[in-house]
Amino acid sequence: MNGEPIDNIRHEPVMVEEVLSFILERARHLVVDCTVGDGGHSWEILGSSSGTYVLGIDVDDEAVAVSDKRLISGFKGRFKVVKWDYRELPEALARFGVPRISGALLDLGVSSRQIDKAERGFSYWAEAPLDMRMNPAGQRTARDILSESSEEELERIIREYGEERFSRQIARAIVKRRAAEPILTTENLVEVVINAVPPRARRDKIHPARRTFQALRIAVNDELSRLARTLRRIFSLLEPGGILLVIAYHSLEDRIAKNVFRELEAGGDGKVRTRKVLRPSEAEIEHNPRSRSARLRVIER
Ligand code: SAH
Repeated sequence: MNGEPIDNIRHEPVMVEEVLSFILERARHLVVDCTVGDGGHSWEILGSSSGTYVLGIDVDDEAVAVSDKRLISGFKGRFKVVKWDYRELPEALARFGVPRISGALLDLGVSSRQIDKAERGFSYWAEAPLDMRMNPAGQRTARDILSESSEEELERIIREYGEERFSRQIARAIVKRRAAEPILTTENLVEVVINAVPPRARRDKIHPARRTFQALRIAVNDELSRLARTLRRIFSLLEPGGILLVIAYHSLEDRIAKNVFRELEAGGDGKVRTRKVLRPSEAEIEHNPRSRSARLRVIER
């Protein structure tokens, strides 16, 4: 089961078996793939469940175009993709006149397509302007944040969203550097970070700039501020027996999902189906190293 690649980049969907095992448990007439990306999960769902209609949404024009082209012909009449923000999913469904859904999948984070397109500025290993907007119509770029935020604000972003030990040193170095010359490219930022951290951190397995890049990406796209509310809103759209699946890639997102699911269960509204968070198998990590940090949580209404 695989579509023809549109170009040489293809995002590999993560934890497909695990996702399908929940989706296929019962008849599900409408599943919303809230982060359709290249349509990897949608493809698998449509291919293994002939009674399911999938609505795919994404804020990224390219993701909308790619998934549309890839899926629309093979699954005519069962797939539709729209450019929309999943934080406004209830409004989108109201527009389509859909009252209830059978399932929703949120595959948080960035797609390989976005990472691999160096010019979008997500990657510390490829020189590009510091953009990092998932929605190219978004307001602020990473460059704006780096040039406009106070040192305290930068420190908070890098510490909270990057869980970076050396946030103070890095924030200080950014402010110092930008007073001399603007930080415009990924390479400029990598250099600032590498010089700010102690030498032992430069020898870490994890690239010293990785956490700072993650932090900026989260800030640019405002990824966490409304996540808890969004999860509650999406959950409230589920029909009885409907499921919400969340794949997180860092502990901040995962903690939010865990807490919201617990609250919903404690309130008697749902049942957490993943007592223990699910991780990709060793085989999957070996085959697709980018799946390494994925964590799946599922709640049923
Ligand atoms: N599951 C997909 C990959 C998803 S990657 C696949 O298998 O192909 C995550 C996607 O979420 C990206 O394409 C990104 O643009 C999108 N995204 C990020 N924030 C979003 C938001 N607020 N609303 C809708 N889509 C979003």
